[in-house]
Order: sequence, then C-alpha cells, then structure tokens
Amino acid sequence: MNVINFQDANCAHCYKCLRNCDVKAIRIKQGQAQIVTDMCIYCGHCMEICPQEAKTFDSDLAYVKSLLYKKERVVVSLDPSYRGLLDYEDSGQIVDALLKLGFSQVRETAEGAAIITREYVRLMKEGKMDNIIVTSCPAIVYLVEKHYPMLIPYLAPVVSPMIAHGRWIKDRMGQHTKVVFIGPCVAKKMEAEADSRTRGCVDAVIEFNELQKWLEEEGIDLKHCESRPFANQDPMVNQLYPITNGIIRAVDVCGAPGTYKKLTVSSIKSCREFLHSMKRGYIDHCFVELNLCAGGCVNGPGVDKRRGFRFKATMSIENNALLAAPPAYITLPKEELERTYVPRQVVDKMPTEAEIKEILKTIGKSNSTTEFNCGACGYMTCREKAIAIYQGKAEAAMCLIRSYENARSQANVVMETTPNLIFIFDKEMRIREFNRRAEDVFHTSRQDALRMYLFELIDTKDFEEVYHTHENKLRVKQKWEQYNMTVLETIVYIPSSDRVLAIIEDVSAEEKQAERMLEQKLNTVKLAQAVVEKQMTTAQEIAGLLGETTAETKAILTKLRDTLLES
Ligand code: SF4
Ligand code: SF4
Ligand code: SF4
Repeated sequence: MNVINFQDANCAHCYKCLRNCDVKAIRIKQGQAQIVTDMCIYCGHCMEICPQEAKTFDSDLAYVKSLLYKKERVVVSLDPSYRGLLDYEDSGQIVDALLKLGFSQVRETAEGAAIITREYVRLMKEGKMDNIIVTSCPAIVYLVEKHYPMLIPYLAPVVSPMIAHGRWIKDRMGQHTKVVFIGPCVAKKMEAEADSRTRGCVDAVIEFNELQKWLEEEGIDLKHCESRPFANQDPMVNQLYPITNGIIRAVDVCGAPGTYKKLTVSSIKSCREFLHSMKRGYIDHCFVELNLCAGGCVNGPGVDKRRGFRFKATMSIENNALLAAPPAYITLPKEELERTYVPRQVVDKMPTEAEIKEILKTIGKSNSTTEFNCGACGYMTCREKAIAIYQGKAEAAMCLIRSYENARSQANVVMETTPNLIFIFDKEMRIREFNRRAEDVFHTSRQDALRMYLFELIDTKDFEEVYHTHENKLRVKQKWEQYNMTVLETIVYIPSSDRVLAIIEDVSAEEKQAERMLEQKLNTVKLAQAVVEKQMTTAQEIAGLLGETTAETKAILTKLRDTLLES
C-alpha cells in the first residue's frame, strides 16, 4: 500500500522533491519522479513542496463519509495538535462540529499518550536500555528501521499513542467500532493502515487540512458551533506530545527517575545528525525524544502552513495542558502495548571507481573542472548523481548544466554557421547578441560589438520603430548603402526580454544578378529597337516603290520589341 500518489502528467521535472527529500527516496524515471518505497519514511515533505501538486495524499475521506452514511459507530481520536491549528474559540466547538458530521464520539489521542507515558517511565525505571529513543512519530521509526537499523535496540519497544488509543477504544467499545484518527500527517496514515504490526487498530486517517475542507463543504463554521465536552477525561500533561520536549515534560511529571540524560531533537536534519552521532557511539544513557517535523507535530505536513498557526498551536497547547499526571483511568494489556522493530535497510549496489568515472564522462564530466556540483538535479555532487544513475534512480538527462550546454552549443552552431546576420539589441539600442556573419559585415568582433550601440554601426530607424511599435517587420527589402548591400530585414520584438531580434538576409548577390539581367534585357531591347527602326525604314522604302502599306510589318516588329521588354 502507498499513501502518496503521483500524477505523472503534472510532474514538471523540477527535481525539487528530490532536492528536498533528505533520504533520497525519490527516483526519476523517464523524467518523472517516483517514490522509492523501500527508502521512504513518509514524512510527506515532497507533497508539501511540489509546485505542481504532482503528489497527493491518498485520502480516506470518502471511506469515512461512507461509514457515517451507513450509520456505523465511528469514534474520533483527535491528535492534540488540533489546538491552535483549527480555527475555533473554544475547543468544545470542535467536538460539536465533529458530532454534526455524524461521528459517535470525539476523544483526544492524548488519552493514548497517557498510557504510553507510563510505559516510558517504566522503561526508565527498569534502566535496561543504554539509550531510549521515544517518539510518537512513525516517520522517525521508519527512519531508524530503513536508514539506521543498527539503532533499533534503542527504540522504546512501545506502540505510539495513536495505536494505543485505537486499541483501547476497540477493546472498550467493541471491535466493530471504527476509529478515525484526525491529525497532522501522512506518516500516521502509513502506521495505521499499511504497517502489518499496527494495522487494524485505527480504521482511517484524516489530515487537518482535509477536515477543514470537509467542514467548509458542509457549511459548518467552528466558531458558530456550541461547546461540547470531549468523551474522555482530561489527559493533562499528555497534551504536550505534539510540541518539542512534550514527551520529556510528560514523563517528568509522571515520575521519571533522573537516571537518564534527557534530550529533545526535532527536524529531519537534526534527527539525522543526532542518529549519526548515536551510531558513532557518542550518545550514552540518554532518553531522547525525536520528532521529524521541526517544532513537533504542530508543524506536520497536513497542516496549512500559510496561516502560520504552529506558534499559536504551541502556545495554546502550553497554556491549556495541566502540568499534572492524569489518574490512571485507562490501561492496556502488556501485549497490546509492545512493539517490535525490523531492520529494513536496502543497501544499493555500489559502482566501482572506474564505473563512476565512465558514467561521469557520459554526462560531460570528464574531469573535476567540469564537475560543478551545483545540486540542481537533486544530488549534492556530480559523483553522487553518477552513483544514483548506476543504481537506476537518476537519469543522465537530469543534469541541467549539461542540457543547457547542449542547447547552447546547438544554438551556437546556428549562430556561427548561418549566412544571415543575427543580432539582438535592447531598448537603449545596446547590442546584446552578435553573430559571426555580423562580425564579418560590420568588421567588428562580437566582443567589441557587445560594448557598442547599434546606431554606431547602422541607421537604426527601422529597428527603433519595431522596438517602439512592437510591430514586426518581415523580410523588408532595404539598401544598406554604407555597406554596399541589399538586405531583407526581419525585425522581431521579444516581449519576454524587452529586446529586439534582427535577422538580416544578405540578398546583394541576387540583387546584382537581377540588375545585370535587367541591364542585359534593356540592351537587347535597345538593339531590337534599332533593328526595328532600320527594318522599318527599309520596308517603307520598298513599300513606297511597290505602293503598299508597312503597317502590318511595323506591328509585328513592335510586338517583338515589347515581348523582349516584358520578359
Ligand atoms: S517537485 Fe518532484 S513531482 Fe513535483 S514537479 Fe518537481 S520533480 Fe515533479
Ligand atoms: S515522503 Fe519524505 S521520505 Fe518519502 S519520498 Fe517524500 S520527501 Fe522523501
Ligand atoms: S513529527 Fe508529527 S507531524 Fe511530523 S511526521 Fe512525525 S508524526 Fe507526522
């Protein structure tokens, strides 16, 4: 199962997703971005940043609506990050809105967190683990399992609050009860629906963004809803889970011993840095809380970032959570709390040094000076990119510099070999491009021309006219007396750059040929005229002797002369 969909047609080959995927779980195939599921940690970041919206969340909304339509018993497990992320005046208004949509009960996932906090405290008290990594973030679990499997022994062997909550709701209300988690991210959906270890505890996952749209469609304005109580007791300090340091504060309030150093780390970059450090053995006896999103779940991918609500959410959570341990009113049997982890790292085959060099050569990087390491393709270095090509994750055509050079060299061939003069100038008549043929005609090198104004070389009347009127001139014949040339001027305004392109066809040779032909013709006609006149004089003399008219002969000879003129 996949929770992120790709729409090939929308992908604009910008590689932004690849550049921003910290674990490089994106492969480009035939120009299209695809997720490498073996490496993906479902952080949802690529969905957030894709300018084309080519990747979309595989929504459960239709399924949830169908459950409600069939009047099934559907209970909401509401992630505590709702505070501040949804636009309400009183949190009870969310309960009212969700009940209006048809849900049977609305409970806070923080109830599940209360059970998990007790488990974390137990692990600390037992003191059997060298380090304890705690998190309610499935993306962190996937990050460790897929990219740092050697650190699995440090993952607290405890399910997440969402899973604990789903299990508890079903245990209490019957397995037929459907549980819908409403929260901030795609990773939770993966954990709920695609992970065989936890599948079935939660039946569907909806993101806050989706809920917001749904409420709008139904015409439900949170601010106009009544305030109704949640079905659960106050989970108190466990409400802090979605913000950084939330778990640590919860365990402290709930009786954690002081035997472990405590640390909180958030954001994928910092988490990876921390895990590297742990891998090297620099971290010892540490209880560390990791969150993949900077600042915690209040900054998850399913949250509308444009509204900048995460700080409001953080403050709201801080202000509302009672810093006290709730009564142990819910529990789960030990086996329902346990979690196992499996190493799932995929190790790609590495190319040899010679193979890397060979691939680099095919993308035009024959030596280190041509390895620009620009990162535009999504890989930090040309070498990394060559390795990715070897592993079937990247394509040679992704090198933008190479594509640009190819395009430029093709354009250069045209500029260098065309018999036409080509130049581009700007609104000040400053020359911006100047080809080889123009160099020949104007006896000016390109280098010099690019420092000159067009009027230094030629009368610019036609060119200025096109710039000012934006009316192009197509193959207009002109005499360039100064250069002893006849030309066909094609002058085109380029709106995107506010410049003018001139393509000048030198037709001097054709023109001279035509002039020569005309001259020959006129000479022939002159000759014919002389012949006609001479013949007419002779004919008139003979006709005078014979007493006949020469009119017919004159008509024939005149026609012959006119035909010569016309041809
Ligand atoms: S971000 Fe990725 S999926 Fe989106 S358009 Fe760019 S390359 Fe395609
Ligand atoms: S969801 Fe995250 S890990 Fe997966 S491809 Fe997108 S950015 Fe990479
Ligand atoms: S930190 Fe929270 S919102 Fe972000 S990926 Fe993890 S679980 Fe999802």
